[in-house]
Amino acid sequence: MIRRTVVVKLAVPDERRDNLRETTERFRQAAQLVADRAFERNDDGYVITSKTKLHHLTYQQVRQATDGLNADLVCAARNYAADSVKGVISAWQNGKYATQPTFTANTVVYNKNAVTYRDDHCTLAAVNGRVTAEYILPPEGENPQTTYLRNDEWELRESTLHYRDGEYYLHVGVAKDDEPLDAEGGTVLGVDLGVKMIAATSTGCMWSGGYLNHRRREYETIRGSLQQTGTESAHRTIDGIGDRESRWAEDYLHRLSKALVQEARTHDCSTIAFEDLTDIRDRMPGAKAFHAWAFRRLYEYVEYKATEFGMSTTQVDPAYTSQRCSKCGHTERGNRPKQERFCCRKCGYEAHADYNAAKNIGIKHVHAGQKSPRGRANRQLALKSGTLNVSDEFSSAEVSA
Ligand SMILES: [Zn+2]
Repeated sequence: MIRRTVVVKLAVPDERRDNLRETTERFRQAAQLVADRAFERNDDGYVITSKTKLHHLTYQQVRQATDGLNADLVCAARNYAADSVKGVISAWQNGKYATQPTFTANTVVYNKNAVTYRDDHCTLAAVNGRVTAEYILPPEGENPQTTYLRNDEWELRESTLHYRDGEYYLHVGVAKDDEPLDAEGGTVLGVDLGVKMIAATSTGCMWSGGYLNHRRREYETIRGSLQQTGTESAHRTIDGIGDRESRWAEDYLHRLSKALVQEARTHDCSTIAFEDLTDIRDRMPGAKAFHAWAFRRLYEYVEYKATEFGMSTTQVDPAYTSQRCSKCGHTERGNRPKQERFCCRKCGYEAHADYNAAKNIGIKHVHAGQKSPRGRANRQLALKSGTLNVSDEFSSAEVSA
């Protein structure tokens, strides 16, 4: 998915300018109420960052205080406030100075329900009903506005309205599906996921799951003892821990995704291949719901980051990737004598089991390209030293990895 923001100056009718001004002020109030409530904290002393929880705690109050501000704008203000609060918390976690958010009346977030886009104008939810505002576009010809706003390839999404020097500007979020430039060719990085070794690549990099597993068990213990007390406030505390749990894990997975994308860049890869994540928990010994969640989240982060560098991500059928020899192709259960050790019963190739699996995952994607109807595929697999071409891989037992 490719995302852009297009800035469009709006012509707001004079008789509606006060309504729009009032809308931005009420949106500001709404966001401020939510942020202030977040910093009044949970019973456990933690600042509230959960959007769902903030919704329950503030929705009625905000509707009243803002004299019935449009419900979509109330929700957008709550999300906007929650994101700002999260920003403060993550600054604190990184040892930086940050204060409780204070909002100005210059920005309103319009989710897709609160704005309607037309070819030459938009309508915006506002006090006293929708405001119709025409786009002020440059003269005819190719410009960002015509490229994105009137182009069916781009989907128009959430926008923010900005008030600046007496004028209104709509920052329109647009997105489109990206087609990999060269889906057939290119170099593939294979990635194997696991409980003990959270990630291993076909280039021989490995990241232990030790830190994640240790932290998860700690939280499980705390949660277990809280659930036994069973009181109302204990339940709230449990939710709070859920938030914090996902925050540290997300932070870790975010850093891991960066490292994986960096590894792919180092090897000039165009695709990063993972195993299919559907039902991964059932396939993987020792995997908890947490791991299934963590793998999906990691994939999302990698997918997002990879796009920035023009790379794509894919998921391949995981069948036999752990039993197959990445060197000679021989496949049998006995190739895997121990959890972490791979040893081919045919050619004697020995390697870390997850490294061997990562190569097989990459090879599967390489192979899928070879079978494409166009028949021109020349995908190759990124390896520790150089690359391995698919034709070598599948016809010869002599290829060294
Ligand atoms: Zn072998």
